[in-house]
Amino acid sequence: MRPDILFPLFAPARTLPGIGPRLEKLVEKLAGNKVVDLLWHLPSGLIDRRSRPKIAEVRDGEIATIEATVGLHVAPRNSRLPYRVHVSDDTGEMQIVFFNARPDHLLKTLPEGARRILSGRIEFYQGQPQLTHPDHIVRPEDMAALPLLEPVYPLTAGLPLKAVQKAARAALKLLPELPEWQDPHWLKARGWQAWHTSLRAAHAPQSLADLETGAPARARLAYDELLANQLALGLVRLRMRRLPGRTVTGDGRMRRKVIDALPFALTNAQTRALEEILSDMKSPHRMLRLLQGDVGSGKTVVALLAMLNAVEAGFQAAMMAPTEILARQHHATLAPLCAAAGVRLELLTGREKGSRRAEILAAVASGEVDILVGTHALFQEEVEFRALAFAVVDEQHRFGVHQRLMLTAKGGVGTDVLVMTATPIPRTLTLTAYGDMDVSRLDEKPPGRKPVDTRALPLDRLDEVVESLRRALTKSAQIYWVCPLVEESDEVDAAAAEERHKHLQSIFGDIVGLVHGRMKASEKDSVMARFEAGDIRILVATTVIEVGVNVPSATVMVIEHAERFGLAQLHQLRGRVGRGDDKSSCLLLYQAPLGETAAARIRIMRETEDGFRIAEEDLRLRGSGELLGTRQSGLPSFRIARIEEQAELLSAAYDDARLVLNADPELEAPRGRALRTLLYLFERDEAIRYLRSG
Ligand code: ADP
Ligand code: MG
Repeated sequence: MRPDILFPLFAPARTLPGIGPRLEKLVEKLAGNKVVDLLWHLPSGLIDRRSRPKIAEVRDGEIATIEATVGLHVAPRNSRLPYRVHVSDDTGEMQIVFFNARPDHLLKTLPEGARRILSGRIEFYQGQPQLTHPDHIVRPEDMAALPLLEPVYPLTAGLPLKAVQKAARAALKLLPELPEWQDPHWLKARGWQAWHTSLRAAHAPQSLADLETGAPARARLAYDELLANQLALGLVRLRMRRLPGRTVTGDGRMRRKVIDALPFALTNAQTRALEEILSDMKSPHRMLRLLQGDVGSGKTVVALLAMLNAVEAGFQAAMMAPTEILARQHHATLAPLCAAAGVRLELLTGREKGSRRAEILAAVASGEVDILVGTHALFQEEVEFRALAFAVVDEQHRFGVHQRLMLTAKGGVGTDVLVMTATPIPRTLTLTAYGDMDVSRLDEKPPGRKPVDTRALPLDRLDEVVESLRRALTKSAQIYWVCPLVEESDEVDAAAAEERHKHLQSIFGDIVGLVHGRMKASEKDSVMARFEAGDIRILVATTVIEVGVNVPSATVMVIEHAERFGLAQLHQLRGRVGRGDDKSSCLLLYQAPLGETAAARIRIMRETEDGFRIAEEDLRLRGSGELLGTRQSGLPSFRIARIEEQAELLSAAYDDARLVLNADPELEAPRGRALRTLLYLFERDEAIRYLRSG
């Protein structure tokens, strides 16, 4: 349970002054729907009103705070013209300008003859200085109420800066006095302040330097966040480690049969990864290992051989895929090899129903099924294994990090877990997403892969693309056409794909198929099957095909609005082609003009196919504004920390979390108790459930 002391911070954002029902939605979109979300929403700029010139000294464009005596009010003859108020000091005169003015109101705030302090941006109009709609008008005696330095927050359309400032100020007033969770020596060494001091300082920048990631207040908050992340992962890890493991050693008889049946030899990287996995399985500890490998690097075979090791030893194994399409594909790939090894393989997804389902479940429970492949249906309660020793979670990018942690923790007593991911992740990110999971990398592609010819074209040359497809089709090509990801909404994406499908169908006829996330699983399967069989030659798709789909005869990948995709995603998509013997190509269609980041992404795509390099570049390019790729990837997104710049803090947090959990695995010492608060503060509540007295 979240401690009471944090309650005010987890109240709805609408309880803050100035956030009514209308702004509430905008605030939620911008930052989140809780008070604490506004605290994490840090300023991106600042307005400096400290310049206090005389009227004769003001400069065009500067933000100035002037003190002047109010003179004549001049109302316009017609309401489209501005209302003007003359003001002066001993050096000169200027005009304060208002559009759509309410004269009665202005006469009150700017009474003739009174002294006022006015602050805003100076503009020169016909050689004369003026101030349009001052940001602040106060009496000289109220000068203290005029903020000489104002934080500027990232905004969204319709949400005024003042509202966010006001809400943030109010949120800061709610800060409870929390126990210090950081090591005092570390704080001192870094020159960091207490949490609430840091948070207040981060919201009140005094200079541009205070806005930088490395500014002490921000760095402290980022470290808090990273530590919460590492601690949460560490707790799950610890819990898994504590569960008893099994020693699983097969005699190799099934693996030999499969290896003999394979038309190729394993790469060195595959052999190495397999050895690492087998040695984990042999050890009495529970295995939690990540198999990282670029698209097409051959993870499936490695997973199969590891599963067979368990089967040889008399156990069962399971493989879970994130989508139905993928589960079926794995099943189809594994079926002949399992047959060669004399192993019973079954498929279980939401679509296996009725007596068929009951039959599979019974065979799994009795142990007749050696390997079960499926979607997350595998982890439902009704599925009971006789002796599950090994679980593979494939392409889990589609599962959130926490979902995955829960799944792996639920895998059953003594079950070794291998997580496979197709997106190579930079080492720094591996830490944030997987903590200290053991990692095997397939950093070598199977021999004989041909490079994919990658080109970029502006969208207005779509007709040329269609022509080139016509030529490709005469050479029996099969083509993917991926449609823009408009929003994170299947519905909107589907509409765009449907439209493109109609368009291409009007040109090429019935050989154009369509698959998107809103179709029924059975419809998707039948379209995919027809594409595999070659009845469909052009497959228009949304990113449902991103992960793992394998049709080796497909040789052309067209990506429409490539500028909207993240680098990792483009790489994944391109990985769908270049899998067979024929030369493949990838066309990146973009909407001109390209922004800087999008241009860089496209350039990198053309330069390299090395997934690890692409991943590093992706991280480097991923600015705060670029959420699409991140959200899709399932990697944790940080509110304050910028891992691309703070790798050093991340590894410090990793070490710190380890030390803490070694010394105080239940977080019961005083610092441990304080760290529990930190976990709640960053909403890592799941992790706390792994504590004995959580
Ligand atoms: P991943 O899941 O890593 O994207 P797959 O396991 O689907 O890759 O393998 C991609 C393709 O490469 C498959 O057709 C597979 O049979 C083939 N393959 C795997 N290992 C090798 C190898 N050592 N040599 C040649 N081809 C291989
Ligand atoms: Mg795969």
